[in-house]
Amino acid sequence: MKFVSDFVSLMYPNICSACNGVIHNTDSVVCSFCLSNLAKSYEFKDKQNKTAQLFWGKVPLEHAFTTFKYVKGNKIQRLIYDLKYDGNTEVGKVLGVEVGREIAESKLKIDVVIPVPLHPKKKKMRGYNQSLFIAQGVQEILKCDLNDYSLQRIVFTESQTRKNKLERHDNMDEKFAVFNTESLEGKHILVVDDVITTGATMVECCKLIKGIKDTRVSVSALASG
Ligand SMILES: [Zn+2]
Repeated sequence: MKFVSDFVSLMYPNICSACNGVIHNTDSVVCSFCLSNLAKSYEFKDKQNKTAQLFWGKVPLEHAFTTFKYVKGNKIQRLIYDLKYDGNTEVGKVLGVEVGREIAESKLKIDVVIPVPLHPKKKKMRGYNQSLFIAQGVQEILKCDLNDYSLQRIVFTESQTRKNKLERHDNMDEKFAVFNTESLEGKHILVVDDVITTGATMVECCKLIKGIKDTRVSVSALASG
């Protein structure tokens, strides 16, 4: 059967999502050269890294991981674009595996991985939550649980939006909530997102998770930017 699969890959070669080169004899969407040369940030080696600092005074974190360097025009930027806007969900898993390896190297013991949920409107348009695929890659390495139901985005109905307008931040038509939290009690939870910018979304998610009995929380993203 190897002959058949070689023949198929000759007819329909896998193209690397980062460099457009042909990938030989592997099912990955990123070639081994690109994968071993992706720009890593190594920020995780410093417990007080600049992503961790976004949480200071807001919510206590165990650790913050932002695995890659996001630079205009670099392969990471292209891969993240493919993941978010081009339906290339497989890229999320490949990069998630790299995030998982970094966390494993840090010797931090994670019990549960939770992807940041996408706004329902965006999910409907995109058809998938990119953070879920990253979380799957992380889980593959850490061999922990993946929970994609306890943390959810709550969308206000139009009447509620009008009613609560004065009490809420401008143009915030949604918020997060946690459900079925028993299985998260006492656990170290890693919240996974694609890119961390201001950290506001992550802070809100982490606050909710810290509100569950005896939890510890860490965050990870592919990059900050
Ligand atoms: Zn490549």
